[in-house]
Amino acid sequence: MIENKYNLGFFPTPLHVLKNLSEQYPDYKIFIKRDDQTGLASGGNKTRKLEYLIQKALDDGYDAVITAGAQQSNHCRQTAAACAKAGLECHLMVRGTKPKIYQGNLLLSHLLGAKIHFAGSAKKEVDYESLKKTIDAQGKKTYIIPIGGSNITGALGFVWAIKELKEQLNEMNIKIDYVFFASSSGGTQAGLVLGMELYGLETELIPIKIDKDDAIGMQLEETVLDIVKDGVKLLGIKKEYTLADVGVNKDYNQEEYGVLTDKEKYAIAILAKSEGILLDPVYTGRAFYGMLDCLKNKKIKPNSNILFWHTGGLPALFGYADGF
Ligand SMILES: *Cc1c(COP(=O)(O)O)cnc(C)c1O
Repeated sequence: MIENKYNLGFFPTPLHVLKNLSEQYPDYKIFIKRDDQTGLASGGNKTRKLEYLIQKALDDGYDAVITAGAQQSNHCRQTAAACAKAGLECHLMVRGTKPKIYQGNLLLSHLLGAKIHFAGSAKKEVDYESLKKTIDAQGKKTYIIPIGGSNITGALGFVWAIKELKEQLNEMNIKIDYVFFASSSGGTQAGLVLGMELYGLETELIPIKIDKDDAIGMQLEETVLDIVKDGVKLLGIKKEYTLADVGVNKDYNQEEYGVLTDKEKYAIAILAKSEGILLDPVYTGRAFYGMLDCLKNKKIKPNSNILFWHTGGLPALFGYADGF
């Protein structure tokens, strides 16, 4: 089933060393995995998940999709692009009220043909069911994709990503000791955890928690563990997982989701000015700051190889123009 996916991106995404940045942290060699370059309407980690989610929607005969997120949701933008390619009608439920001017991801989602529904309030819980009823009443069969595409179907994209990473590391003849990435709705992390077991990749994941608050009274770790347990069944994995296997780093999520602070701005500036690579204000900016802090303060073992998994998000920068 891991082979049954709808082609949406260009894989493998590049993996390369950050030479200039590594020179600033002599105890470490820093690599980057470029999922900002997946190629789907400016890329990002949701492309991998959507290859499985869209395949499932098509296999099961759906003709419309609903998903939800923030106004600057990268997931919504990539879902809009995926639906455009696959010929599915796309409905996005986004938080807040309709702005006068569409910027960043919201603009792109609109250009990609998605129907955008403004939830009106800032709260995260979304009422998929009533929208689904309305669309189904028009003779459609509507597939619901959860926030961030985070269920086991979507997470398979990151199981597959570990196979890809392992092949690249073998080719380059390097071993990675730590993998830093932004963890928010949990699907990326769950897929990586499962993929490491399935393909026998040894490394330590350091998921940087992005959200200050969890969505529906469930801790991020619990969400990740639930997806991992679904994956254990689906993939026939023998290992038993507990919360201890899906820990997240909570040192950098003091500010609310989507709040741009000097820390994210610092991280964005460092990578931009040392390597010519752009991070995003919500996820990778925060996670990259966390990684730099860990390196600077030697919170992880010196003389190790580090991988930052760049999960995308560039268009969101244009939604935060007034924050820079
Ligand atoms: C969605 C997203 C993440 C987080 O991935 P999850 O699977 O939701 O944990 C990280 N970075 C970017 C740019 C994203 O859009």
